[in-house]
Amino acid sequence: MLSISHTLFSIFILRLLSLIFPLFFFFSFPNILISIISANFCDFDIFWLKKISTHHRLVFHLPLFYLVLFIGVSIITYPLTYYYIILLIFIQIFFHLFTDYVTGRTAGIYWFYPLLNKQYSLFAIKPRLGNYHPYIKNKGKMKKHFIFYFQNRLLVVFELFLCLLGIVAFFI
Ligand SMILES: [Zn+2]
Repeated sequence: MLSISHTLFSIFILRLLSLIFPLFFFFSFPNILISIISANFCDFDIFWLKKISTHHRLVFHLPLFYLVLFIGVSIITYPLTYYYIILLIFIQIFFHLFTDYVTGRTAGIYWFYPLLNKQYSLFAIKPRLGNYHPYIKNKGKMKKHFIFYFQNRLLVVFELFLCLLGIVAFFI
């Protein structure tokens, strides 16, 4: 999913949490900032990836890695007063992985890696269209990738809807 969509959707998630658990999650500027950074953290692998199609196998997009990390951090920090921040960070990360699973076009999510070396996506993916490095003169390949990305109208509408939720979150 695009960074702007992850960003806006993370704001909606925070708003939702603040409505369901008003004592723990505040719709405040620091929490909005934490949400945005956490929701985009997985995509920092852009600095290490070799190809778009394989970047979901780097540690940044591995759910089992975050699960183990979450359990470890929870054991250490629970029930400290700032534990809700830890919770918020991991909730945003897991929503990132889930929305990447739904909207993945050239790479899925390796839900069980390293136990299972298999990627999953809601719609069929075309890894060959993401077979390029985003920094190195690949304008042609990038264009093809984006055309394919926006071909699935259902996903485009879904992603726009998530963005809209993020904007609406400021007014509810
Ligand atoms: Zn991602």
